[in-house]
Amino acid sequence: MKVPFLDLHAAYLELKPEIDAAIARVVDSGWYILGPEVDAFEAEYAAYCEAEHAIGVANGLDALHLALLAMGVGPGDEVIVPSNTYIATWLAVSQCGATPVPVEPVDATYNIDPARIEAAITPRTKVILPVHLYGQPADLDPILAIARKHGLRVLEDAAQAHGARYKGRRIGAHGDAVAWSFYPGKNLGALGDGGAVTTNDPELADRISVLRNYGSRVKYVNEVKGFNSRLDPIQAAVLRVKLRVLDEWNARRQGIAQRYLEGLAGSGLVLPQVPEWAEPVWHLFVVRHPERDALVKRLNEAGVGTLIHYPVPPHLQAAYAEMGFGVGAFPVAERMAREVVSLPMGGQMAAEGVEVICGVCRG
Ligand SMILES: *Cc1c(COP(=O)(O)O)cnc(C)c1O
Repeated sequence: MKVPFLDLHAAYLELKPEIDAAIARVVDSGWYILGPEVDAFEAEYAAYCEAEHAIGVANGLDALHLALLAMGVGPGDEVIVPSNTYIATWLAVSQCGATPVPVEPVDATYNIDPARIEAAITPRTKVILPVHLYGQPADLDPILAIARKHGLRVLEDAAQAHGARYKGRRIGAHGDAVAWSFYPGKNLGALGDGGAVTTNDPELADRISVLRNYGSRVKYVNEVKGFNSRLDPIQAAVLRVKLRVLDEWNARRQGIAQRYLEGLAGSGLVLPQVPEWAEPVWHLFVVRHPERDALVKRLNEAGVGTLIHYPVPPHLQAAYAEMGFGVGAFPVAERMAREVVSLPMGGQMAAEGVEVICGVCRG
């Protein structure tokens, strides 16, 4: 039995009639940039996230970048980021001309450690940028308290956390703004690139909607030097279909995660831990083992697809060589990079796959 890491085609096939109809509707409408389909998705997604505004943009990286710009981040500023994240979190800061300042995660949850944030704050710090990694919310209350105390903004990277809840409330507007990606493999994924920012702050919402559209509110009137970063209406139409099944598909992921947790208990693998205030959406099911590479080999030989999120932390990438961080600069993140492996997970994954995988892991 082969178990793919993720089956995006199966996800499409499950919704094929609705998705095909949604795409045809946009093609037939003759309206191909922004417009009613994007407006409708923005309203529906904001409501889903319990936020007042949603602004559709071209991808998750742009969502982060434009939100930071709207918060006034620029050259000379610093933004606090996790040391263990997908590099997009850091790149968005660099794109503003600002400096990412890494803070180590909590070992048990993989999310930024609030107890280590204050030591990283300087007079140049503008924003704290926690990531809800692997679909589990970061511990937002202490982060928001630190931000209030120091007069900083909070931007959440929720690219992996569509539908997750923190202390009972949906991720979407705890911080000043929340950045989303609709990359196909995310819990809410388009059939191409897409992204959004949600916020309860009308000024931020307004600035981001102007920035995404050439700095223009009225055609050929350019208030600021903006970008072309609009959510495509065909993708918006697809996302409207998939938003309707998001909770159901997240519940399936929860069921898979439960089976993994039971099947791998006592296996010697370090399993994900969920704090009592978190309702994760299991974007990834990440386990840890000191002999990770041998485990991956056994899984792959048994026909099980795996990925590593992420094999090299941003501070050790060539892209950030100029910052001069060497090996050992962020040991918690570096150890995670050596030991983590993501097991297959998704709304279309068969339960039998979990049994196969648990057997191999226990083998
Ligand atoms: C996917 C992802 C992004 C970037 O999203 P894109 O749509 O690919 O630009 C940013 N941050 C995290 C944590 C992600 O997982």
